[in-house]
Amino acid sequence: MILFAETALLPDGWARDVVIRIDDGKIAEVTPGAAREGEAFGCLLPAPVNLHSHTFQRAMAGMTEARTVGQDSFWTWRALMYRFLERLSPEDVGAIAAQAMVEMAESGFAAVCEFHYLHHPAGGGTYSDPAEMSARIVAASVETGLGLTHLPVIYEQGGVDGRALAGGQLRFGSVPEVYARVLEGAGRSMAGMPDAALGIAPHSLRAVSRGTLGRVVDLLSDGPIHMHIAEQVAEVTEVEATWGTRPVEWAVANLPLDRRWCMIHATQMTPGETMALARTGVVAGLCPMTEANLGDGVFDGPGWLGAGGAFGVGTDSNVRISLAEELRLLEYYQRLQRKARAVMADEGKSTGRLLWESAAKGGAQAAGRASGAIAPGMWADLLALDRGDVRLEGFAGDGLLDAFLFAGRDGLVTDLWSAGRHIVRGGRHIVRDRVAARFRATIRRLREAI
Ligand code: ZN
Repeated sequence: MILFAETALLPDGWARDVVIRIDDGKIAEVTPGAAREGEAFGCLLPAPVNLHSHTFQRAMAGMTEARTVGQDSFWTWRALMYRFLERLSPEDVGAIAAQAMVEMAESGFAAVCEFHYLHHPAGGGTYSDPAEMSARIVAASVETGLGLTHLPVIYEQGGVDGRALAGGQLRFGSVPEVYARVLEGAGRSMAGMPDAALGIAPHSLRAVSRGTLGRVVDLLSDGPIHMHIAEQVAEVTEVEATWGTRPVEWAVANLPLDRRWCMIHATQMTPGETMALARTGVVAGLCPMTEANLGDGVFDGPGWLGAGGAFGVGTDSNVRISLAEELRLLEYYQRLQRKARAVMADEGKSTGRLLWESAAKGGAQAAGRASGAIAPGMWADLLALDRGDVRLEGFAGDGLLDAFLFAGRDGLVTDLWSAGRHIVRGGRHIVRDRVAARFRATIRRLREAI
């Protein structure tokens, strides 16, 4: 396959008249200043990975915005989430995942790291295939063509003190032996998907014991390791009260943190923790829209960048799925907090450019995916921006990204390729209608039931 871009963002900057040759889903050759050949587009960009998602939560989006009793919080939201997921069958989980993946692709993501913790039937136990739910996520990735880094989650306790799981949490719970079977089954169901990756995910310091944490990181010799860290003040307080140390402080001192790791949220950090965590080489997995929706807090962007930290963005609860909005909010929180503008910009790079390149690079690292740049050897994870749209009129170079992220709309993504699979064309995912029909039927039944 050959693509042509009037302008494209390459690793060393913007280039004009670029021919991109793609073989077996990978970029084989990139030639700037070339004569037009193949299918032509106005602007091609590297398409980032969505580094953190729980696709099933897409089905609850918009349902938790009314006040219940007293002060609503992350914890009241979580109670409703638990009630909701009691109802979900494997078929439901597959239908919801496919819908979320269609929306991810249409918003500009080429792949997703699915942090998957809904493994078991309501009330606990296992399905006859312990990796049944993982297989549904894998099937949704195959159906939609969205690249997948699948992260089966180990979740074994109800709090830092080691209390037993209860209620809705029973569907997540796995002792290490069961978890190993889930992981193995998930890996089997992904055979034949050349660009997919398997990783492991200890849910959080509150849900996994320290002993298990030490053991699970050895279950895979390579591949990504993701964990929620320091999302909520109550979580920090709980860890501090039990272990006498803050979560990030503890993680830096006790876990073998390196480039395999992605720490999700990290919204509750002291400046010292920010510095120390950034220097380990982990990716910070930021989910600004969910962090705002749940009232988590604000990540210290400039502190992290100043310490050389890598980051990417994820859609987490999938309350709304928009790559541009995640990046825009990330910058806007920094502006509101610091009463300053262009906080995440750099000399020679505009805010839009820095956000985009960081998210593409950090997302790829977090996913264990050779991606994040338009360069030979990378998977062809690409998106085309609609240069003919009135909102992009007169923009070139970094201005295109600034206009897209700060002044545009999601529909500016006209085409998207995931490992060379051309899954969004003319702004529509190629199986959007079929997936949406199944999602509608699922959602109607679920909402009637709760
Ligand atoms: Zn999460």
